[in-house]
Amino acid sequence: MFRSGLSRFSRFRGRRARFEHGPQDGAGLDTRLNALCDEARAMGLNTPQALLEYLDARGLDTALPRLTNCLTALSRAEGPLAPDQFGADLPLDSLDLLERAVGDRLAIPDFAHFCHRVSGFFSYARDNRRGQIADYIPELAHQDEDGFGLALCSIDGQRFNLGEAQTGFCLQSVVKPLNYALALALNGESLVHTHVGREPSGRRFNELALDPDGRPHNPMINAGAIMCAALIRPAQSVEARAELVRRFVLSAAGGAGCTLDEAVYRSELETAARNRSLVNMMDEHDAFPPGTDTKAALDLYFRTCALTLDCDALSVVAAMLANGGVCPVTGHRVIDPGIVRHTLSLMLTCGMYDYSGEFAFTVGLPAKSGVSGGLMIVIPGVGGFGLWSPRLDRQGNSVRGVEFCQRLIEDYPFHIFAGVASE
Ligand code: GLN
Repeated sequence: MFRSGLSRFSRFRGRRARFEHGPQDGAGLDTRLNALCDEARAMGLNTPQALLEYLDARGLDTALPRLTNCLTALSRAEGPLAPDQFGADLPLDSLDLLERAVGDRLAIPDFAHFCHRVSGFFSYARDNRRGQIADYIPELAHQDEDGFGLALCSIDGQRFNLGEAQTGFCLQSVVKPLNYALALALNGESLVHTHVGREPSGRRFNELALDPDGRPHNPMINAGAIMCAALIRPAQSVEARAELVRRFVLSAAGGAGCTLDEAVYRSELETAARNRSLVNMMDEHDAFPPGTDTKAALDLYFRTCALTLDCDALSVVAAMLANGGVCPVTGHRVIDPGIVRHTLSLMLTCGMYDYSGEFAFTVGLPAKSGVSGGLMIVIPGVGGFGLWSPRLDRQGNSVRGVEFCQRLIEDYPFHIFAGVASE
């Protein structure tokens, strides 16, 4: 099984993201559609229905906005498969995707087998009932401690989910990479990193500690994330800034629902002593840009932690990062590739709190956890997982989330350095 997992993915050694496409070229399109139908028929896919079933088995259906129109047109078509059944104005991007599917070149080959294996890892992790639900934010203690959801999205938009993948949860620290990416997009690398470092702290996520230059160690722990919040459009009202972040998260998630959990937000505001201490400590060391309204920065930080997504939507965010910043569901660029690279670097080195070194060593994937039990796992050039299971380990990471990652990496060569160890 291990071997088969390895060989099926060996062609992804030189993994490349899929990027946006320019306008379609009409003449080339007809030739390509004809060739697509020829190839499909050669595989025994003689009717539109046979092609639809083939795509469905590979995780592609009408729910993917890039394919909705053409798959709906195909589902209404009758007779043998023909180029005129794909609907009017087939976007080049959709045609590319169909060609990759029929040519067996999708990001996740043998999708059914992969999903079967992933289901096994999910069941294995579900049996683990260790860990404690976070209760220092009173509202989080109301979560179903046995809840467990998992969703997968590939950079081609192949989707699969298990358990409570459509239960919304607040992102908590899972939002930190997105706040960092937005702060970079708005201010540039030089300004952001004048105020926040990029070194793992080796300490707890809310430790009262700064680096030797008096900055928070990195954007993936509380102090650094509060600093990133301070750098997001500081001249605007907190409400406008929070709405900007919400819209950014929404576009990263391909437009799936992202709302503010008011109860969690209030709960955090009422129990903010530690985070206020972090702000005071940074203030004392002049870590903030001059003139920063630190109360507003902390307020914005809480609002972003209280944004909710479900696992399905979180897997799209992870796949967007895996795809170099282009959302695989909508085809829209959300983040510049350089910013994605910085974000993934810090997720790899700092994304799992004071377990980050161990996680990078054993799992070797950029990931980000949160105290609500959320976990975003990025497999660069392949796709991503969104996971939620609220019981946490000592470091504050989802117990089942870590377990799932460890099982995944035993069977598939996704560790970023897997390539150097394969024959
Ligand atoms: N909002 C939480 C806090 O500030 C986020 C912490 C986390 O997810 N690790 O404590």
